[in-house]
Amino acid sequence: MLSIAGVPASRLCPVCHESHQDVAELLGPTAPDAWLAISEGERLEAELTPDVCILPDLGRTRHFVRGHIQLPVMDAEPPMFVWSVWVELDQESMAAIARSWSSPNRAAIPPLTGRLATELPYEEPTRGLEITVHTRDLGLVPLLMVSNTTHALATEQREGVHLHRIVELGARLQRQ
Ligand SMILES: [Zn+2]
Repeated sequence: MLSIAGVPASRLCPVCHESHQDVAELLGPTAPDAWLAISEGERLEAELTPDVCILPDLGRTRHFVRGHIQLPVMDAEPPMFVWSVWVELDQESMAAIARSWSSPNRAAIPPLTGRLATELPYEEPTRGLEITVHTRDLGLVPLLMVSNTTHALATEQREGVHLHRIVELGARLQRQ
């Protein structure tokens, strides 16, 4: 849980002058949006694990992996918020990840390019944004970097946010 950094714990938010306590450190769906959109029957043909999703779609196969987009939070403790999101990869990139999945050197594979497959509660759509996927050591999901430099998600990933913004995004996610 995130809280406003610094003592005393009751310090107030500089934006809304309220106290934000116990804000979620990580938010995100357990499946790609494309999985959530299909019927129970179609899901029988598909596969979903906590980290990977394979979906048959009109004669082809779609591949998704779960990863983390980290946002530095300037005034919180710990100073990091994570969007746990899904990225769609082409077959070749998915094969590269699958080959190295259990390898102790998997962080060494070159970065891959995919598309964000999760709609986040931003002003502009996030699904379809180009993402650079960096695999990490065993036990860590890939780290995702937003390639588009003008989208708010990219700006916030680069420059960080205040805890107030995380509270706001979390509330919007609830209403989605
Ligand atoms: Zn606030």
